[in-house]
Amino acid sequence: MAAADASSLPPSAITCRAAVAWGPGQPLVMEEVEVAPPGPMEIRVKVVSTSVCRSDVTAWQSKAQLDLFPRVFGHEASGVVESVGEGVTEFQVGDHVLTVFIGECKSCKHCVSGKSNMCQKLGLERKGVMHSDQKTRFSVKGKPVYHYCAVSSFSEYTVVHSGCAVKVGLTVPMDRVCLLSCGVSSGLGAVWNVANVSKGSSVAIFGLGTVGLSVAQGAKLRGASKIIGVDTNPEKQEKGKSFGVTDFINPDELSEPVQQVIKRITDGGVDYSFECVGDSGVVSTALQSCSDVISCHAFCFHTCILHISYSLLFICISNLLGLGSNCNSWLTKRKTRSVYSLCISSIRKNTEGIYVWRMET
Ligand SMILES: [Zn+2]
Ligand SMILES: [Zn+2]
Repeated sequence: MAAADASSLPPSAITCRAAVAWGPGQPLVMEEVEVAPPGPMEIRVKVVSTSVCRSDVTAWQSKAQLDLFPRVFGHEASGVVESVGEGVTEFQVGDHVLTVFIGECKSCKHCVSGKSNMCQKLGLERKGVMHSDQKTRFSVKGKPVYHYCAVSSFSEYTVVHSGCAVKVGLTVPMDRVCLLSCGVSSGLGAVWNVANVSKGSSVAIFGLGTVGLSVAQGAKLRGASKIIGVDTNPEKQEKGKSFGVTDFINPDELSEPVQQVIKRITDGGVDYSFECVGDSGVVSTALQSCSDVISCHAFCFHTCILHISYSLLFICISNLLGLGSNCNSWLTKRKTRSVYSLCISSIRKNTEGIYVWRMET
């Protein structure tokens, strides 16, 4: 009998390198890890690009989940499907994908209703294992290595549920598009889905990192008339302007509280404020910067909140506070796809041949 074609054989374990955190706050160590084959409805992805999100740093530093170490962090990634598990029809080997850390099963009541992005089957994973069987797909010398948000992209290969991946075009620059997994969609979703910023309104953004700059872009696209960016890094002034910020405030250069300045230049406070730093003090400042008249404001709590307890962090990012914006509040796969479509037309090479990403109104 002829030997079986290698491509028809079921995938086997892969040995590759991954950055493993052996304990909270401990330096990541490049280890040879074994990555198990994808289980039913899972795909194994060769990671091409991954970015570091503050949420990774928060979880890495936290001592609240000691039993989840050793662990592979990373949850914003782009990559190529290396193999598919039983039952997967949406993806084929060679597809280019984005990972999403809040999946979409398309059948639970939240996925069906469209009122929440917290899928009951593939929602935010907090136990360091895969949703389907509560086991890990990583090991080092036989010792289980836990996942982070069921993505774990700080590895050359990772396994994700097919409901936690979105197909992207083959020509897309992978090192840019990975930001759509979390940072960019968090900012845009906070503006469009949670706050629902309206035309002509005023907005304050605390922290102009990826999330904050995306908030600025989203507010600009919604037609906000005043977009105030607050950051202690003076370099963010020019950067913020190019993303839609109309007024820049560096709190370090003020002799009075920043909320006073914001209230003065907006005749009593902004309509919406977004906290994109992850600091409880800044949350308070953001609240105090809002108009006294409007009682409901939206806050982007997506990024880590270093000075708030881990449990409160999860309350916030689970949207239970009503004010929190978990990642993006998108119905993840469908909306990531639509944001992707919107953004992808905006990726172009600049005069230096570097891909830039700017959505213009
Ligand atoms: Zn993130
Ligand atoms: Zn679901």
